[in-house]
Amino acid sequence: MLAVIPPIQDGSWQAELRAALRTGDDLAAAGLIAPERAAEAERVRAVFDVQIPDSYLDAIAESGPADPVWRSAVPAAEELIVRPEELGDPIADEAHTPVPGVTRRHRDRALLKPTYACAVYCRFCFRRYAVGQGEETLRRGELEAALSYIAKTTELWEVILTGGDPLVLSDGRLAEILDRLRAIEHVKVLRVHTRAPAVLPARVTDELAALLAGPRTRPRKPVWVVLHVNHVRELTPAAEEAIDRLADRGVPLLNQSVLLRGVNDTVEAQEALLRRLVELRVKPYYLHHADLARGTSHFRTTLEEGQELVRALRARVSGLCQPAYVLDLPGGHGKVPVGPATVHREGGETWIEDASGRRHHYPPAVAADEDPEDSGAVANGRSGR
Ligand SMILES: *Cc1c(COP(=O)(O)O)cnc(C)c1O
Ligand code: SF4
Repeated sequence: MLAVIPPIQDGSWQAELRAALRTGDDLAAAGLIAPERAAEAERVRAVFDVQIPDSYLDAIAESGPADPVWRSAVPAAEELIVRPEELGDPIADEAHTPVPGVTRRHRDRALLKPTYACAVYCRFCFRRYAVGQGEETLRRGELEAALSYIAKTTELWEVILTGGDPLVLSDGRLAEILDRLRAIEHVKVLRVHTRAPAVLPARVTDELAALLAGPRTRPRKPVWVVLHVNHVRELTPAAEEAIDRLADRGVPLLNQSVLLRGVNDTVEAQEALLRRLVELRVKPYYLHHADLARGTSHFRTTLEEGQELVRALRARVSGLCQPAYVLDLPGGHGKVPVGPATVHREGGETWIEDASGRRHHYPPAVAADEDPEDSGAVANGRSGR
């Protein structure tokens, strides 16, 4: 697994990653679990890897599932419970994989997964069938094949580096991939999905920030960085500095969260997170309904609970703070917005629900082929827009 990490210097992010907690004994020695739970933690780790770097440990205030960060990173016996509706590959990535390392569900964009290694192995991970299972990094030949697929697929306007976490790659490896993608004429926009700024802030060096900001030549081919932060406590002072380093370089920043029971399924937890992100120049992008990954039922809310939450947030926080609540349909049919329905039709009439749930009548539009004289649209002043 450490093959992706070059020679290690003391105090570097690579050294921090190498020293991360992994075993049941590590967790017990750090006081995260009772020593008698170490064997159970090892059983869970056999199903899905454990890795907690030192700086993420700083975000844990108390040992136990009541702590949102502990719950996100420390293995729990519930992960061994697999429910019948749960799936190995919940969003059917494998069925949409034209070449190893590439997932494509849309005409204009595709995922490129150069590694399945991460800085932290999140206990709710939707890609746990592939992530943290050894064999993490694409081999040289596979990466070449993935890049050729992208180069010959001229409809691809955007390439999304994900995984795994692409920022566990060395700067050299990452620079090479970004340069190769930028050199493809039809690829205009790049994206990196990463949890590193929050869970391994030391990774965000000035060199990395410069690399992501990219050359000033035209066309710019920007890298949009999409963070993954679920709780305001993950935004430690070091994480905030890492985010500032990217924002100060002009790297556009978004955030996606997963809606997780016991982590961020209250209006208060969401409000605190969303406000802080916007204060840090990060635009909340998606709130994902938790996928049907195996052994994650203790994290899943109902869709109705999620809808109630986003309805309450709509009334409570600035539009800048609002993420789109989305469900990635099982079977690989893509993401669908599942926020509360606000448009209702009754007897040919349209009613729109406001943030507090009251319904308001909304007049019908004039059909494009309708003669305004006949409809009286001009007479009542309704044709202006
Ligand atoms: C989620 C996903 C994307 C990105 O979707 P956006 O709505 O553009 O953020 C692209 N491709 C695949 C296969 C995905 O699963
Ligand atoms: S960082 Fe993403 S891919 Fe990695 S374990 Fe967490 S959720 Fe899974």
